[in-house]
Amino acid sequence: MKIGVFGGTFDPPHLGHLALCRAAQRQLGLDRLEVIPSAIPPHRDQPRAEAIDRYAMVALMLRNEDHIAPSPRELLRQGTSFTVDTLDELRQEQAGAELFLIIGGDSYDDLPNWRSAPRIPTLAHLAVIARPGADGVRALREGDLARLKTHPAKLSRGSLGVFDIAMEPCPWSATEVRRQLAAGEQDIEALDPAVLHYLRTRGLYTGGNAR
Ligand code: ATP
Repeated sequence: MKIGVFGGTFDPPHLGHLALCRAAQRQLGLDRLEVIPSAIPPHRDQPRAEAIDRYAMVALMLRNEDHIAPSPRELLRQGTSFTVDTLDELRQEQAGAELFLIIGGDSYDDLPNWRSAPRIPTLAHLAVIARPGADGVRALREGDLARLKTHPAKLSRGSLGVFDIAMEPCPWSATEVRRQLAAGEQDIEALDPAVLHYLRTRGLYTGGNAR
């Protein structure tokens, strides 16, 4: 059984996330891909929308997917949402499964700073997707894990594999979507129509600080 884990703030979820999920599911042959909104992300400003709204929007965006589903597991835990805790939890639930942690190139570049970074590649394979502006995949294409290995948070012995997921470059970001929404733009190309409808109905991302 191959299980993919794709975490993020999804503030809001956009079609770049969906394209990434589909590419990863197909290319890795995943039986199941869990898309996991972070309740309290450790590495960044806190999200604009409540976790429950971000979860609802992820669920809406994935409503027609077969092997890709939202998971509330980080909403159900107390405190900061650390990826290592999510992977430990899954390992306990699915002892025999092969786990794949799916991350954008920008997140991969930041991985050495994550909590228990050296343990992460011992719990799951890393599946990295190119993102415009991030050099994680360039490093992978060159077969160059040296940068990660020489970082203070070294990969431990017993690390699993690192996979490079191919995807058409996709320029969308939640930051840009929030900017467009705050500016009152009507057609937001990067959003699933059901997600756009939901966030309009809930009055999310209007005005104020558009970060
Ligand atoms: P923000 O602009 O608020 O930082 P985001 O668009 O990066 O948000 P996140 O929820 O932070 O969305 O991203 C979750 C994961 O999806 C991260 O690993 C990120 O690298 C990846 N990701 C998001 N957008 C893209 C994209 N257009 N192409 C490739 N990876 C992406």
